[in-house]
Amino acid sequence: MSNLLIQNGRIVDPASGLDSHQSLLIREGRIAATGESADAALDAETQVLNAKNLVISPGLIDIHVHFREPGQSAKETIGTGSKAAAQGGFTTVVCMPNTTPAIDNPGTVALIQDKVEKDALIHVHTTGAITRDIAGESLAPIGSLHEAGVVAITDDGRCVQNHDLMRRACEYAKMFELPLMDHCQDESVVGKGVMHEGHWSRVLGLPAWPSLGEELIVSRNIQLAQLTGSHIHCQHMSSAGAVQLIREAKDKGIPISGEACPHHFTLTDAAIAGSESFWEESGADWLNMIHIDHERPQWPAYDTLFKMNPPLRSAADRAAVLEGVADGTLEVLASDHAPHCSYEKEVEFDMAPFGITGLETELALGLTRLYHTGRMTLMELIRRWTTHPARLMHLKGGSLSVGEPADLTLFDPEEEWIYDRMDTPSKAHNSPFHGWPMKGRNRYTILDGKVVYQAH
Ligand SMILES: [Zn+2]
Ligand SMILES: [Zn+2]
Repeated sequence: MSNLLIQNGRIVDPASGLDSHQSLLIREGRIAATGESADAALDAETQVLNAKNLVISPGLIDIHVHFREPGQSAKETIGTGSKAAAQGGFTTVVCMPNTTPAIDNPGTVALIQDKVEKDALIHVHTTGAITRDIAGESLAPIGSLHEAGVVAITDDGRCVQNHDLMRRACEYAKMFELPLMDHCQDESVVGKGVMHEGHWSRVLGLPAWPSLGEELIVSRNIQLAQLTGSHIHCQHMSSAGAVQLIREAKDKGIPISGEACPHHFTLTDAAIAGSESFWEESGADWLNMIHIDHERPQWPAYDTLFKMNPPLRSAADRAAVLEGVADGTLEVLASDHAPHCSYEKEVEFDMAPFGITGLETELALGLTRLYHTGRMTLMELIRRWTTHPARLMHLKGGSLSVGEPADLTLFDPEEEWIYDRMDTPSKAHNSPFHGWPMKGRNRYTILDGKVVYQAH
C-alpha cells in the first residue's frame, strides 16, 4: 500500500485540540506523522492529495442509522447504506435493531457481521434489542448480545413502556458496561399521534404526538440512570422540555446523554402545513447567507417527507434543540437515517411510515445551522460527530493522533451546493431537503488510509 500525504488542509482534531494548517501523512493505513515531518517523508512512493480549502477531520461517526437488514432490503442494505454514509462523510455508523426479524439474538448479530464483512464500505456496528422482538415484554439475552459484539442496546422505533423491565435492562447493561440507548416515547400519551401537538395539529386535524410523551420517558430515564448508575443515552431529542431535563440531570452528575438530529434543529411542524406556512413562521435568514443561485424550496401541505418520529416540533423547540447542542447538553449529532420505498411514503399522512433519510445532508445542515450561524466553533461541532459518540459508544476512532487508523473526513465548510435527493447510492430518496441550498460539503472520505468516497 502506497503512502498518502495530505497537504494544504486545515487539521481540526478535537481529541488533541489541534486546529492548524499542516500536512498529514498516512502510511500502511495509519496516521504516521503531521506537520513538517509529514512533508519530509515525501518520496516517489507517496501519493499527494491537495486539501486546499478543506478541513481534515477525524472520520465522522453517526450512532443512529437504519440499514434495514435483515428483512427490509428493498428499503436499504448494509452495502447501499454504507455507501450513502461514505458520501456524507461518515467512516463509522451504528445500526438500529428494529429489522425483520429484530436483532435480538446472537445469530442475527452474526448475520449482520457477515454482511458487514462482505458489503460494507465503512465501519458498520450494530446494536441489539433491549427486549425480545422489540415487543417490550421480556428482556432479550443481553449478555449473549454483548458477547456477540453489539455496541449498545436499544428498542429504537419502540420504547420500553414497563419501567421495571427497563430498570432490569439498566442493571444488565451496567454489568456488561454496555451502552443503553432509548427512543423516548410514552405510548399511553402518544397513542396514534403523527405530528406535534400544537397550533398546526389543530389546524391540520391530524392526531397529535405531544412533547409530554417524550418528556415523561426522559424523566423516567433520568431516575433510572440515577438509581442504577447505568448510563442512558436519549435518542433524537425534539422537545424543549426534554432538553432542559437532560441539562439539569447532567448538572447533578447523573449519567445521561442526549442526541440531536438535523431535521429537528432545521424544520418545524409548520412544514406539514406546506412551505408557505413554514417560511412565514421560520424566516429564512440562514438561507439568505447562502449565495448560490437558488429558489426558496417549496412543497405542499401534508407532505409525508415531513413525517418522522419524534415529530417536527414548534419553533421554540427547534431553538431549544439548537441551544442544547451548542451548550453541550446534547453531545451527539446523528441522522436517524430511516430509508423507505417511495410507494410507502406516497399515501395519506396518517398512513405513511415515520422516518426520513439523512446521511447525505447531515454534515451540511450541521455546518449551516450550528457553525455558519456562529453558534459553535468548527472544533466544537466536530466533537459532536467524533470524540463524543466514540466515548459514549466505546468505539475506536474520533482522533487524528499518530498511530491511529487513518479514518478521515475532508470537507469544504464553505462550498455551496443544492441537494438533489436522487444523488445518492442509497436505495431510498425520502428526504425533505430536496432542492435545498446547503453550505459545507464532504469532498473525501478516507477509511484505513484508502479513499472510499470522492465528490465529483
Ligand atoms: Zn427512534
Ligand atoms: Zn431511529
